[in-house]
Amino acid sequence: MPARPFDLSRARVLISNDDGIHAPGLRVLERAVRRLAKEVWVVAPEYEQSAASHSLTLRRPLRIRRLSGRRYAVDGTPTDSVLLAVREIMKDRAPDLVLSGINRGGNLGEDVTYSGTIAAAMEGALLGFPAVALNQLSENGHPVKWGTAEHHLASVLERLTSAPWPAGVLMNVNFPDVPARATRGVEITRQGRRKIGGVLVQGRDPRGEPYYWIGSQRTEDRARRGTDLGAVSQGAISITPLTLDLTHRPTLGTLKRAFD
Ligand code: MN
Repeated sequence: MPARPFDLSRARVLISNDDGIHAPGLRVLERAVRRLAKEVWVVAPEYEQSAASHSLTLRRPLRIRRLSGRRYAVDGTPTDSVLLAVREIMKDRAPDLVLSGINRGGNLGEDVTYSGTIAAAMEGALLGFPAVALNQLSENGHPVKWGTAEHHLASVLERLTSAPWPAGVLMNVNFPDVPARATRGVEITRQGRRKIGGVLVQGRDPRGEPYYWIGSQRTEDRARRGTDLGAVSQGAISITPLTLDLTHRPTLGTLKRAFD
């Protein structure tokens, strides 16, 4: 696997997200990256796509809307946006780095399998680029502390891009819900445990038909050390390297023996 450290100051950066082209976190990321990199391109969904996961739009056509020089909206998912950015909008010269975010809220534990923010970075990694998903935690209805992500973004990105970077790996960065100065360093973590969907709100629509609304409450394990959830619970920035190979290797042997 090739390691690809590179010079961020000379990089051409593609930014996408899942909160949509008008999201405040996208503006924060654009502003920060313009100070760090040579060229910034933004290609993001027209409307919010949180929890869209890695879905691709196949059964209807997609439209690209140019908003200004290097800013575009796509009427599809985060995956559609990154794919169209690389294959069409930036087809003359590929990006050196794909960033997704900054998401409003954390993507921790099993969130990563539902997240559109992570999916945009996954698509970047699948297309062969180093990719980073960026998330700013916001808990208990607190106003989002964008200043925390903004303050630490440069050092996180500079250190990430100077490290050896295997192909097919994406980085999941979560900034804790604490003020920038109270952040307790960076912790390199593994994916923890956190499952959404335990609470269903039931009601009846104006026609008397029942509906169900999936709540955002999670069942989670914050105590486990070395995990993304453990790190942000302690006020640290969590960085988890993720890969798209979902194979559970320890089971390969036992399964082969069972089918022998
Ligand atoms: Mn989102």
